[in-house]
Amino acid sequence: MDRYIAEAINQLLSVIRTVCDYSTSNQSQLSLHEPYFADTNASAYVSDCITTGWVSTAGSWGKRLEHEICSATGAKYSVAVTNGTNALRLALHLVGVSNNDEVLLPPATFVATANAISHLGAIPHFVDIEPGSLGICHCSLSNYLSSIAEHTEAGVINRKTGRRIAAVVPVHVFGYPCNISAVKHICDSWGLPMVEDSAEALGSFKNGVHCGLFGDLGVLSFNGNKLVTTGGGGALITNDRCLAERARHLSTTAKINLPLELSHDAVAWNDRMPNINAALGVAQFEVLQRRLTYKRKLHERYCHYLKDLDFVEPIKSSSDCSPNHWLTTLRITIDTDSTASLLRNNLLSESNRQGIHIRPLWTPLHKLSMYDNCPRSALPITENYFSRIISIPSSPQLLSSFHEDQPKYL
Ligand SMILES: *Cc1c(COP(=O)(O)O)cnc(C)c1O
Repeated sequence: MDRYIAEAINQLLSVIRTVCDYSTSNQSQLSLHEPYFADTNASAYVSDCITTGWVSTAGSWGKRLEHEICSATGAKYSVAVTNGTNALRLALHLVGVSNNDEVLLPPATFVATANAISHLGAIPHFVDIEPGSLGICHCSLSNYLSSIAEHTEAGVINRKTGRRIAAVVPVHVFGYPCNISAVKHICDSWGLPMVEDSAEALGSFKNGVHCGLFGDLGVLSFNGNKLVTTGGGGALITNDRCLAERARHLSTTAKINLPLELSHDAVAWNDRMPNINAALGVAQFEVLQRRLTYKRKLHERYCHYLKDLDFVEPIKSSSDCSPNHWLTTLRITIDTDSTASLLRNNLLSESNRQGIHIRPLWTPLHKLSMYDNCPRSALPITENYFSRIISIPSSPQLLSSFHEDQPKYL
Protein backbone atom coordinates (compact mmCIF):
# COMPACT_ATOMS: atom_id res chain seq x y z
CA MET A 1 0.00 0.00 0.00
CA ASP A 2 1.16 3.50 -0.87
CA ARG A 3 2.74 5.32 2.15
CA TYR A 4 0.44 8.31 1.75
CA ILE A 5 -2.65 6.10 1.79
CA ALA A 6 -1.47 4.05 4.76
CA GLU A 7 -0.82 7.25 6.72
CA ALA A 8 -4.23 8.72 5.79
CA ILE A 9 -5.98 5.55 6.96
CA ASN A 10 -4.12 5.63 10.29
CA GLN A 11 -5.06 9.26 10.84
CA LEU A 12 -8.75 8.70 10.15
CA LEU A 13 -8.99 5.55 12.29
CA SER A 14 -7.23 7.35 15.10
CA VAL A 15 -9.76 10.22 14.93
CA ILE A 16 -12.60 7.68 15.09
CA ARG A 17 -11.06 6.00 18.15
CA THR A 18 -10.59 9.34 19.88
CA VAL A 19 -14.16 10.49 19.20
CA CYS A 20 -15.74 7.16 20.19
CA ASP A 21 -14.30 7.28 23.67
CA TYR A 22 -16.57 4.78 25.40
CA SER A 23 -15.01 1.40 25.97
CA THR A 24 -16.05 -1.61 27.96
CA SER A 25 -14.79 -5.15 27.74
CA ASN A 26 -17.80 -6.20 25.67
CA GLN A 27 -17.45 -3.37 23.17
CA SER A 28 -14.79 -4.69 20.84
CA GLN A 29 -16.47 -3.16 17.79
CA LEU A 30 -17.22 0.43 16.89
CA SER A 31 -20.53 -0.05 15.14
CA LEU A 32 -22.07 2.04 12.40
CA HIS A 33 -25.45 2.24 14.06
CA GLU A 34 -26.67 -0.36 16.54
CA PRO A 35 -29.96 -0.53 18.41
CA TYR A 36 -29.69 0.13 22.14
CA PHE A 37 -32.40 -0.59 24.70
CA ALA A 38 -30.74 -0.33 28.13
CA ASP A 39 -32.17 3.16 28.75
CA THR A 40 -35.70 2.31 27.54
CA ASN A 41 -38.89 0.62 28.73
CA ALA A 42 -38.63 -1.90 25.88
CA SER A 43 -38.76 -5.08 28.00
CA ALA A 44 -41.78 -3.94 29.99
CA TYR A 45 -43.73 -2.88 26.89
CA VAL A 46 -42.96 -6.03 24.91
CA SER A 47 -43.80 -8.16 27.99
CA ASP A 48 -47.15 -6.42 28.14
CA CYS A 49 -47.95 -7.79 24.66
CA ILE A 50 -46.90 -11.28 25.65
CA THR A 51 -48.77 -11.36 28.97
CA THR A 52 -51.97 -9.94 27.47
CA GLY A 53 -51.71 -12.03 24.30
CA TRP A 54 -52.05 -8.96 22.03
CA VAL A 55 -49.04 -9.65 19.84
CA SER A 56 -50.48 -9.23 16.35
CA THR A 57 -52.06 -6.36 14.43
CA ALA A 58 -54.84 -5.67 16.96
CA GLY A 59 -53.99 -4.04 20.29
CA SER A 60 -53.25 -0.59 21.64
CA TRP A 61 -49.51 -0.15 20.99
CA GLY A 62 -49.99 0.55 17.27
CA LYS A 63 -52.14 3.59 18.08
CA ARG A 64 -49.62 4.74 20.69
CA LEU A 65 -46.80 4.40 18.19
CA GLU A 66 -48.70 6.41 15.58
CA HIS A 67 -49.30 9.08 18.20
CA GLU A 68 -45.54 9.18 18.97
CA ILE A 69 -44.72 9.41 15.25
CA CYS A 70 -47.11 12.35 14.84
CA SER A 71 -45.74 14.23 17.82
CA ALA A 72 -42.09 13.67 16.81
CA THR A 73 -42.62 14.72 13.19
CA GLY A 74 -45.51 17.16 13.42
CA ALA A 75 -47.46 15.05 10.90
CA LYS A 76 -51.23 15.20 11.25
CA TYR A 77 -51.54 11.50 10.38
CA SER A 78 -49.35 8.43 10.45
CA VAL A 79 -49.99 4.80 9.58
CA ALA A 80 -47.63 2.16 11.02
CA VAL A 81 -46.85 -0.71 8.64
CA THR A 82 -44.64 -3.80 8.36
CA ASN A 83 -41.58 -2.12 6.83
CA GLY A 84 -40.34 0.89 4.93
CA THR A 85 -40.36 -0.86 1.55
CA ASN A 86 -44.05 -1.68 1.89
CA ALA A 87 -44.74 1.85 3.10
CA LEU A 88 -43.12 3.19 -0.09
CA ARG A 89 -45.06 0.77 -2.28
CA LEU A 90 -48.33 1.77 -0.60
CA ALA A 91 -47.54 5.49 -0.86
CA LEU A 92 -46.74 5.17 -4.57
CA HIS A 93 -49.93 3.22 -5.16
CA LEU A 94 -51.92 5.92 -3.33
CA VAL A 95 -50.58 8.70 -5.57
CA GLY A 96 -51.58 6.69 -8.64
CA VAL A 97 -48.41 4.86 -9.74
CA SER A 98 -49.26 1.69 -11.62
CA ASN A 99 -48.11 -0.83 -14.17
CA ASN A 100 -45.76 0.50 -16.90
CA ASP A 101 -45.46 4.00 -15.40
CA GLU A 102 -42.05 5.57 -14.84
CA VAL A 103 -41.04 7.00 -11.46
CA LEU A 104 -38.10 9.39 -11.07
CA LEU A 105 -35.62 8.77 -8.24
CA PRO A 106 -31.91 9.22 -7.49
CA PRO A 107 -29.64 6.19 -8.07
CA ALA A 108 -27.71 6.81 -4.83
CA THR A 109 -30.16 5.19 -2.44
CA PHE A 110 -30.95 1.88 -0.77
CA VAL A 111 -32.29 -0.67 -3.27
CA ALA A 112 -35.71 -0.63 -1.55
CA THR A 113 -36.59 2.72 -3.17
CA ALA A 114 -36.42 1.16 -6.63
CA ASN A 115 -37.86 -2.18 -5.50
CA ALA A 116 -41.03 -0.50 -4.20
CA ILE A 117 -41.51 1.08 -7.65
CA SER A 118 -40.96 -2.27 -9.37
CA HIS A 119 -43.39 -4.05 -7.05
CA LEU A 120 -46.16 -1.97 -8.66
CA GLY A 121 -45.00 -2.94 -12.15
CA ALA A 122 -43.58 0.56 -12.66
CA ILE A 123 -40.10 1.43 -13.97
CA PRO A 124 -37.44 3.27 -11.94
CA HIS A 125 -36.00 6.20 -13.90
CA PHE A 126 -32.80 7.68 -12.47
CA VAL A 127 -31.88 11.37 -12.11
CA ASP A 128 -28.49 12.54 -10.79
CA ILE A 129 -27.77 13.71 -7.23
CA GLU A 130 -26.35 17.06 -6.09
CA PRO A 131 -22.97 17.39 -4.36
CA GLY A 132 -24.21 19.16 -1.23
CA SER A 133 -26.98 17.03 0.23
CA LEU A 134 -26.39 13.76 -1.69
CA GLY A 135 -30.09 13.96 -2.66
CA ILE A 136 -31.69 14.28 -6.10
CA CYS A 137 -30.44 17.40 -7.90
CA HIS A 138 -33.26 19.87 -8.57
CA CYS A 139 -31.38 21.43 -11.49
CA SER A 140 -30.82 18.06 -13.17
CA LEU A 141 -34.44 17.16 -12.51
CA SER A 142 -35.73 20.37 -14.01
CA ASN A 143 -33.47 20.34 -17.10
CA TYR A 144 -33.99 16.65 -17.66
CA LEU A 145 -37.79 16.85 -17.48
CA SER A 146 -37.74 19.77 -19.93
CA SER A 147 -35.65 17.72 -22.33
CA ILE A 148 -37.56 14.43 -22.24
CA ALA A 149 -41.09 15.06 -21.00
CA GLU A 150 -44.25 16.69 -22.24
CA HIS A 151 -47.67 17.44 -20.83
CA THR A 152 -50.50 15.59 -22.54
CA GLU A 153 -54.07 14.74 -21.67
CA ALA A 154 -52.82 11.41 -20.32
CA GLY A 155 -50.42 13.17 -17.97
CA VAL A 156 -46.66 13.79 -18.19
CA ILE A 157 -45.27 11.57 -20.95
CA ASN A 158 -41.66 10.54 -21.53
CA ARG A 159 -41.27 11.35 -25.26
CA LYS A 160 -38.49 8.78 -25.64
CA THR A 161 -40.38 5.79 -24.22
CA GLY A 162 -43.99 6.90 -24.62
CA ARG A 163 -44.63 5.93 -21.00
CA ARG A 164 -46.27 8.10 -18.36
CA ILE A 165 -44.02 9.66 -15.71
CA ALA A 166 -46.20 9.18 -12.64
CA ALA A 167 -44.26 10.45 -9.60
CA VAL A 168 -40.95 11.66 -8.15
CA VAL A 169 -39.31 10.03 -5.11
CA PRO A 170 -36.62 12.21 -3.52
CA VAL A 171 -34.53 10.50 -0.81
CA HIS A 172 -33.09 12.14 2.32
CA VAL A 173 -29.86 10.17 2.34
CA PHE A 174 -28.37 9.28 5.76
CA GLY A 175 -30.74 11.80 7.37
CA TYR A 176 -29.38 14.84 5.46
CA PRO A 177 -32.43 16.70 4.11
CA CYS A 178 -32.23 17.06 0.33
CA ASN A 179 -33.15 20.26 -1.48
CA ILE A 180 -36.76 19.31 -1.04
CA SER A 181 -38.53 22.66 -1.48
CA ALA A 182 -36.89 23.15 -4.88
CA VAL A 183 -37.78 19.58 -5.90
CA LYS A 184 -41.38 20.10 -4.75
CA HIS A 185 -41.57 23.27 -6.81
CA ILE A 186 -40.56 21.34 -9.95
CA CYS A 187 -43.04 18.54 -9.17
CA ASP A 188 -45.80 21.15 -8.80
CA SER A 189 -44.91 22.84 -12.07
CA TRP A 190 -45.31 19.48 -13.86
CA GLY A 191 -48.28 18.35 -11.77
CA LEU A 192 -46.32 15.33 -10.54
CA PRO A 193 -46.99 13.76 -7.13
CA MET A 194 -44.04 13.57 -4.75
CA VAL A 195 -43.44 10.73 -2.28
CA GLU A 196 -40.46 11.33 0.03
CA ASP A 197 -38.27 8.43 1.03
CA SER A 198 -37.48 9.71 4.52
CA ALA A 199 -36.68 6.19 5.76
CA GLU A 200 -33.40 7.46 7.21
CA ALA A 201 -34.60 10.91 8.22
CA LEU A 202 -36.62 10.53 11.42
CA GLY A 203 -35.85 13.70 13.39
CA SER A 204 -34.54 15.64 10.34
CA PHE A 205 -36.11 18.99 9.54
CA LYS A 206 -35.77 21.64 6.86
CA ASN A 207 -37.12 25.12 7.56
CA GLY A 208 -38.79 23.65 10.64
CA VAL A 209 -40.75 21.07 8.60
CA HIS A 210 -40.02 17.39 9.13
CA CYS A 211 -38.69 15.43 6.14
CA GLY A 212 -41.54 13.51 4.54
CA LEU A 213 -44.09 16.30 4.96
CA PHE A 214 -43.21 18.40 1.91
CA GLY A 215 -45.01 16.24 -0.61
CA ASP A 216 -48.11 14.05 -0.72
CA LEU A 217 -46.76 11.30 1.52
CA GLY A 218 -43.53 10.53 3.36
CA VAL A 219 -42.18 7.18 4.42
CA LEU A 220 -40.21 6.16 7.52
CA SER A 221 -38.39 2.88 8.22
CA PHE A 222 -37.96 1.25 11.62
CA ASN A 223 -35.61 -1.47 10.45
CA GLY A 224 -32.92 -2.68 12.87
CA ASN A 225 -30.29 -0.20 11.72
CA LYS A 226 -32.50 2.91 11.74
CA LEU A 227 -32.70 5.55 14.48
CA VAL A 228 -35.83 4.00 15.96
CA THR A 229 -36.35 0.30 15.38
CA THR A 230 -39.40 -1.88 15.84
CA GLY A 231 -37.41 -4.95 14.80
CA GLY A 232 -38.85 -4.48 11.35
CA GLY A 233 -41.37 -1.79 10.54
CA GLY A 234 -42.19 1.43 8.80
CA ALA A 235 -44.76 4.18 8.59
CA LEU A 236 -46.44 6.60 6.24
CA ILE A 237 -46.72 10.21 7.35
CA THR A 238 -48.94 12.84 5.77
CA ASN A 239 -51.04 15.90 6.48
CA ASP A 240 -53.72 14.70 4.05
CA ARG A 241 -56.55 13.00 5.88
CA CYS A 242 -57.97 11.28 2.82
CA LEU A 243 -54.59 9.72 1.90
CA ALA A 244 -54.08 8.59 5.52
CA GLU A 245 -57.49 6.91 5.62
CA ARG A 246 -56.89 5.13 2.33
CA ALA A 247 -53.44 4.02 3.53
CA ARG A 248 -54.98 2.59 6.69
CA HIS A 249 -57.71 0.84 4.75
CA LEU A 250 -55.48 -0.67 2.05
CA SER A 251 -52.88 -1.82 4.57
CA THR A 252 -55.61 -3.62 6.56
CA THR A 253 -56.84 -5.89 3.71
CA ALA A 254 -59.49 -3.23 2.87
CA LYS A 255 -61.63 -4.65 5.65
CA ILE A 256 -65.00 -2.91 6.11
CA ASN A 257 -66.03 -2.18 9.67
CA LEU A 258 -69.25 -4.10 10.10
CA PRO A 259 -70.24 -5.55 13.46
CA LEU A 260 -71.39 -8.97 12.26
CA GLU A 261 -69.95 -9.42 8.76
CA LEU A 262 -66.43 -10.04 7.51
CA SER A 263 -66.16 -8.13 4.28
CA HIS A 264 -63.61 -6.28 2.13
CA ASP A 265 -64.02 -3.77 -0.69
CA ALA A 266 -60.71 -3.78 -2.62
CA VAL A 267 -57.73 -5.92 -3.51
CA ALA A 268 -55.41 -4.82 -0.72
CA TRP A 269 -52.46 -5.75 1.46
CA ASN A 270 -51.78 -7.14 4.91
CA ASP A 271 -49.26 -4.45 5.83
CA ARG A 272 -50.18 -3.32 9.35
CA MET A 273 -47.48 -3.40 11.99
CA PRO A 274 -47.97 -6.03 14.71
CA ASN A 275 -48.63 -4.77 18.24
CA ILE A 276 -45.47 -6.36 19.66
CA ASN A 277 -43.29 -4.46 17.18
CA ALA A 278 -45.15 -1.24 17.91
CA ALA A 279 -44.52 -1.70 21.66
CA LEU A 280 -40.77 -1.84 20.98
CA GLY A 281 -41.10 1.29 18.87
CA VAL A 282 -42.93 3.29 21.56
CA ALA A 283 -40.11 2.54 24.01
CA GLN A 284 -37.63 3.96 21.47
CA PHE A 285 -39.66 7.08 20.72
CA GLU A 286 -39.62 7.88 24.44
CA VAL A 287 -35.83 8.35 24.20
CA LEU A 288 -35.72 9.80 20.68
CA GLN A 289 -34.75 13.32 21.77
CA ARG A 290 -31.90 11.90 23.85
CA ARG A 291 -30.73 9.83 20.88
CA LEU A 292 -30.82 12.87 18.61
CA THR A 293 -28.90 14.95 21.15
CA TYR A 294 -26.11 12.39 21.38
CA LYS A 295 -26.04 11.85 17.62
CA ARG A 296 -25.44 15.58 17.29
CA LYS A 297 -22.74 15.58 19.98
CA LEU A 298 -20.97 12.69 18.27
CA HIS A 299 -21.20 14.44 14.90
CA GLU A 300 -19.82 17.69 16.34
CA ARG A 301 -16.92 15.86 17.96
CA TYR A 302 -16.12 14.25 14.63
CA CYS A 303 -16.22 17.61 12.85
CA HIS A 304 -13.88 19.08 15.46
CA TYR A 305 -11.24 16.36 15.08
CA LEU A 306 -11.64 15.94 11.32
CA LYS A 307 -10.67 19.59 10.75
CA ASP A 308 -7.03 18.48 10.93
CA LEU A 309 -7.35 15.98 8.07
CA ASP A 310 -7.02 17.40 4.56
CA PHE A 311 -8.29 14.38 2.59
CA VAL A 312 -11.85 14.09 3.92
CA GLU A 313 -14.67 16.48 4.75
CA PRO A 314 -17.98 15.81 6.52
CA ILE A 315 -21.19 16.21 4.51
CA LYS A 316 -22.76 19.43 5.75
CA SER A 317 -26.38 20.48 5.48
CA SER A 318 -27.35 24.03 4.56
CA SER A 319 -28.17 26.34 7.47
CA ASP A 320 -31.95 25.93 7.06
CA CYS A 321 -31.62 22.21 7.85
CA SER A 322 -31.47 20.35 11.10
CA PRO A 323 -30.38 16.81 10.21
CA ASN A 324 -30.71 13.82 12.57
CA HIS A 325 -27.05 12.83 12.03
CA TRP A 326 -28.14 9.23 11.64
CA LEU A 327 -24.83 8.45 9.93
CA THR A 328 -21.94 10.87 9.98
CA THR A 329 -20.81 10.77 6.37
CA LEU A 330 -17.56 11.96 4.79
CA ARG A 331 -16.42 12.74 1.30
CA ILE A 332 -12.88 11.88 0.25
CA THR A 333 -11.63 15.13 -1.27
CA ILE A 334 -8.39 13.96 -2.95
CA ASP A 335 -8.34 15.34 -6.53
CA THR A 336 -7.42 12.19 -8.44
CA ASP A 337 -10.28 9.72 -8.75
CA SER A 338 -8.01 6.69 -8.75
CA THR A 339 -6.22 7.75 -5.52
CA ALA A 340 -9.56 8.55 -3.86
CA SER A 341 -10.90 5.16 -4.74
CA LEU A 342 -7.70 3.40 -3.63
CA LEU A 343 -7.98 5.16 -0.28
CA ARG A 344 -11.62 4.16 0.04
CA ASN A 345 -11.01 0.51 -0.78
CA ASN A 346 -8.06 0.12 1.57
CA LEU A 347 -9.86 2.03 4.30
CA LEU A 348 -12.88 -0.26 4.08
CA SER A 349 -10.84 -3.43 4.41
CA GLU A 350 -8.47 -2.12 7.09
CA SER A 351 -11.17 -0.53 9.28
CA ASN A 352 -13.42 -3.56 9.16
CA ARG A 353 -10.44 -5.77 10.01
CA GLN A 354 -9.96 -3.61 13.11
CA GLY A 355 -13.63 -3.80 14.13
CA ILE A 356 -14.39 -0.22 13.09
CA HIS A 357 -17.47 -0.27 10.90
CA ILE A 358 -17.07 2.03 7.95
CA ARG A 359 -19.60 1.78 5.18
CA PRO A 360 -19.36 2.77 1.51
CA LEU A 361 -22.15 4.39 -0.47
CA TRP A 362 -24.54 1.83 -1.96
CA THR A 363 -23.62 0.57 -5.40
CA PRO A 364 -25.61 3.04 -7.54
CA LEU A 365 -28.88 1.36 -8.53
CA HIS A 366 -28.33 1.78 -12.27
CA LYS A 367 -25.29 -0.52 -11.88
CA LEU A 368 -27.35 -3.39 -10.42
CA SER A 369 -28.23 -6.14 -12.89
CA MET A 370 -32.01 -5.78 -12.42
CA TYR A 371 -31.93 -2.01 -12.98
CA ASP A 372 -29.13 -1.55 -15.50
CA ASN A 373 -31.60 -1.20 -18.38
CA CYS A 374 -33.66 1.50 -16.68
CA PRO A 375 -33.90 4.97 -18.23
CA ARG A 376 -31.65 7.64 -16.72
CA SER A 377 -30.28 11.15 -17.05
CA ALA A 378 -26.51 11.70 -17.19
CA LEU A 379 -25.23 10.69 -13.73
CA PRO A 380 -21.77 12.33 -13.31
CA ILE A 381 -22.11 13.26 -9.62
CA THR A 382 -23.38 9.82 -8.62
CA GLU A 383 -20.53 8.15 -10.52
CA ASN A 384 -17.97 10.44 -8.93
CA TYR A 385 -19.33 10.17 -5.39
CA PHE A 386 -19.63 6.41 -5.42
CA SER A 387 -15.87 6.03 -4.84
CA ARG A 388 -15.65 8.96 -2.40
CA ILE A 389 -18.46 8.68 0.16
CA ILE A 390 -18.08 6.77 3.42
CA SER A 391 -20.10 6.68 6.65
CA ILE A 392 -18.30 6.23 9.97
CA PRO A 393 -19.43 4.74 13.34
CA SER A 394 -22.43 6.76 14.49
CA SER A 395 -24.06 4.90 17.38
CA PRO A 396 -24.74 7.44 20.15
CA GLN A 397 -23.73 4.88 22.79
CA LEU A 398 -20.13 5.12 21.51
CA LEU A 399 -19.78 8.34 23.54
CA SER A 400 -18.92 7.94 27.21
CA SER A 401 -21.05 11.00 28.08
CA PHE A 402 -24.08 9.05 26.78
CA HIS A 403 -23.57 6.53 29.59
CA GLU A 404 -22.75 9.09 32.26
CA ASP A 405 -26.16 10.78 32.23
CA GLN A 406 -28.20 7.72 31.40
CA PRO A 407 -31.75 7.97 32.78
CA LYS A 408 -33.02 5.02 34.77
CA TYR A 409 -36.56 4.14 33.75
CA LEU A 410 -36.88 0.69 35.26
C1 LIG B 1 -34.19 1.39 5.18
C2 LIG B 1 -34.56 2.07 3.94
C3 LIG B 1 -35.71 1.76 3.20
C4 LIG B 1 -36.57 0.55 3.43
O1 LIG B 1 -36.95 0.29 4.68
P1 LIG B 1 -37.17 -1.22 5.20
O2 LIG B 1 -37.88 -0.96 6.50
O3 LIG B 1 -35.81 -1.81 5.38
O4 LIG B 1 -38.02 -1.94 4.21
C5 LIG B 1 -36.02 2.52 2.09
N1 LIG B 1 -35.24 3.53 1.70
C6 LIG B 1 -34.11 3.87 2.36
C7 LIG B 1 -33.31 5.03 1.87
C8 LIG B 1 -33.72 3.13 3.49
O5 LIG B 1 -32.58 3.43 4.11
